[in-house]
Amino acid sequence: MSFDLHSHSTYSDGLLTPFQLVARAAGRGVDTLALTDHDELSGLAAARDAAQELGITLVNGVEISVSWHTLTLHIVGLQVDPGNRDLDMGLQQIRHGRLRRAEAMAKSLEQAGITGSLEGARAYAANPELVSRTHFARYLVERGHARDVAAVFKKYLTGDKPGYVPHQWASLQQAVGWIRMSGGMAVLAHPGRYKLGNAQRDVLLAEFKDLGGVGIEVVSGSHTERQFADWGRHAQRHGLLASAGSDFHGPGESYRDLGDLPALPAGCTPVWEQW
Ligand code: AMP
Ligand code: MN
Ligand code: MN
Ligand code: MN
Repeated sequence: MSFDLHSHSTYSDGLLTPFQLVARAAGRGVDTLALTDHDELSGLAAARDAAQELGITLVNGVEISVSWHTLTLHIVGLQVDPGNRDLDMGLQQIRHGRLRRAEAMAKSLEQAGITGSLEGARAYAANPELVSRTHFARYLVERGHARDVAAVFKKYLTGDKPGYVPHQWASLQQAVGWIRMSGGMAVLAHPGRYKLGNAQRDVLLAEFKDLGGVGIEVVSGSHTERQFADWGRHAQRHGLLASAGSDFHGPGESYRDLGDLPALPAGCTPVWEQW
């Protein structure tokens, strides 16, 4: 069985519609796909129809943006109920915050001499409530400020670079709570991407588990082979399940394509074991 439990559609910052995404996954041999749009559930209905039509299993997912101390973390919810009011209201709040952040980002880029980026980013965002840094990045590529999206992130939109605006997302407790209230499993997304020391890593994993988190993405499109093994060990040490997801955003924009994932390291218990 081939599981890919992290992917994006045009309802957040992916390049493919839910139908195109599910069709690509099915064509690439994925049996079970989770659509996990950032802070948004509205792509799930179309993805579900597509999955039914194409004979694969769709997992209702979401990727929630979280502020934890000085870090931004992403928490994936799997098997959530898209009709759950707590989850829906929480995500709505995050999306409203995104609109304010987008305005501030555009101002910051303007000070660096880049004009029109709010309108530019909006033009790339099919979902007007979900303007992300990725949409700004696509606009900056269009205007020739960098070669590709990855290069934009190196030059802009991160750290102390122009266009980066610190932002307060949901708390870890809120994100895990909403996922649990909607019947889902909370999974820490791509842990290898966060700048964590060893002690802080263990504090985070313990706190996440305490709050009701159940798994971590051991195999992720943004992890190296070495990180598969490392995070597999950390999952086992903390009694957390292991998930696998490409984090596919679109052809040419993602390091790993849908379903292009190795098996979980030996000794890990998959999040899908009880499904
Ligand atoms: P946001 O949630 O609006 O802050 O945007 C975060 C999104 O930007 C992530 O989900 C990725 O899709 C994208 N992103 C972040 N860092 C990078 C990077 N270094 N290269 C390419 N895409 C990135
Ligand atoms: Mn993204
Ligand atoms: Mn993420
Ligand atoms: Mn993602």
